[in-house]
Amino acid sequence: MTASLARKRVTVMGLGRFGGGVGVARWLARAGARVLVTDLDPPIRLGESIEALRPEIEAGAIQLALGAHDENHFTDADLVVANPAVPKPWANPFLLSAARAGVPVTTEIRLLCERLPSRQRTIGVTGSVGKSTTTAMIAHALREALGERGPRVFLGGNIGGSLLSSLDELRADDWVVLELSSAMLHWLGAGVGDASAPGWAPHIAVLTNLAPNHMDWHGDMAHYASSKAGIFERQSRAEGDVALCTQWPGFEGSDGRRAAGEPVFRPEDPAALARLGAALPALAVPGAHNRVNATLAARAVGEALGADPATVARHLGTFPGLAHRLQFVGERALPSGGALRFYNDSKSTTPESTETAVRAFDEGRGAGHVHLIAGGYDKKIDLAPIGALGPGLAGLYTIGATGPAIAGAARGAGAPTSRVHECVTLSGAVQAALRCARSGDVLLLSPGCASWDQFTNYEERGEAFARLARSPNPEPEQKLSEKVPNIP
Ligand code: ADP
Repeated sequence: MTASLARKRVTVMGLGRFGGGVGVARWLARAGARVLVTDLDPPIRLGESIEALRPEIEAGAIQLALGAHDENHFTDADLVVANPAVPKPWANPFLLSAARAGVPVTTEIRLLCERLPSRQRTIGVTGSVGKSTTTAMIAHALREALGERGPRVFLGGNIGGSLLSSLDELRADDWVVLELSSAMLHWLGAGVGDASAPGWAPHIAVLTNLAPNHMDWHGDMAHYASSKAGIFERQSRAEGDVALCTQWPGFEGSDGRRAAGEPVFRPEDPAALARLGAALPALAVPGAHNRVNATLAARAVGEALGADPATVARHLGTFPGLAHRLQFVGERALPSGGALRFYNDSKSTTPESTETAVRAFDEGRGAGHVHLIAGGYDKKIDLAPIGALGPGLAGLYTIGATGPAIAGAARGAGAPTSRVHECVTLSGAVQAALRCARSGDVLLLSPGCASWDQFTNYEERGEAFARLARSPNPEPEQKLSEKVPNIP
């Protein structure tokens, strides 16, 4: 159906504010399709995305229908491309209308995967946490191992933007490393959105871990787990596919789907993984969780290259880390002498990820040298786990709408009042930490909350922190605002 898109009427559902639908809309327009982009958001909230498509809009290749969806755009089309952010797509009234009208529904990731030159050269990573890090580690180690002259390595899926525009330059021996969210995996299932669509799985599949997440999208844990399970269930033993995972997370009973024939999945041998973990070089990214990610990455790269994973693991020593995830961003001199090291973990928007971040610095030393900045937009979730970290920290500096609640929880958990600072703003928190810290201490921004009360997104918050790590000049204060959350 989607083989030739020229002159086809294609509706792109969900433009998004950060490029979600931009890449696919542009690619469709270049393929000669007549593209209509529709989004529930009004133009005022989609400014950057609309600007990015300006040339195609002015050329008449892309039309916009913003602020609401029109059922006709879903029934009177040759193809609908749904944004994977659309929750519970099987119950979405517009997608149901498309199905009733016999209009196939696909996604950017399916359009990409069905056009990749070689499935044998694909690696896919999924999991509840650690996907981006593990995907980037695999791409880094592969590039280092293959060198300048070898096949190239392309990074895509949920990380690094759409690869559709790179399809023309992809050669059959290039590697494609994809971060695959549970929503993307749902859409890669056989017959999903289009009865004739085959299922797709990468040649090498990695599952980092599985814990409840994205219940708003999936509805329940069984659907979430079975979407993740699809990455293995669609693999083929006959084609030598490889499944890597530390545990079989009990997908049986999720929805009963099994691959035809024997599944390729077999859990990694814990003893062998531990030996490989011990063979890893020193990593620039801190924490035991990152050593787990690196161990899986080394296994995947070893399988890809037919090499000993302990040998390829050496390339992970130069992995610099991803922005906003426990990223070292600089150090500032302290008035008392010595320096304070700044780590940006702005991607942390749940209390669990703040706990993980503090634990990463805890190892061997305790958290008594960690000054933690936490707080942000109020998602009405339990913040007690962040408060519980308070007594062990050198200092807690709260910001944003949840600041008072986190500070209260920390004092309630026994943190000395003198070490709990209610700062409201990020710049205020940094100034306070510089006054209190001692040489060799760490200043960690790991907010455990979304950023929308003071920043556009977590990237903007992390960049503000990185600037504060470099500059003695205070940033303009970030006022608390009633921003409408931008839920990705
Ligand atoms: P994802 O792409 O799945 O959201 P990331 O690689 O961006 O995951 O990491 C997000 C956060 O999750 C990190 O800052 C860290 O706190 C935590 N994290 C990463 N890997 C793991 C892991 N293997 N186990 C537990 N927590 C992890």
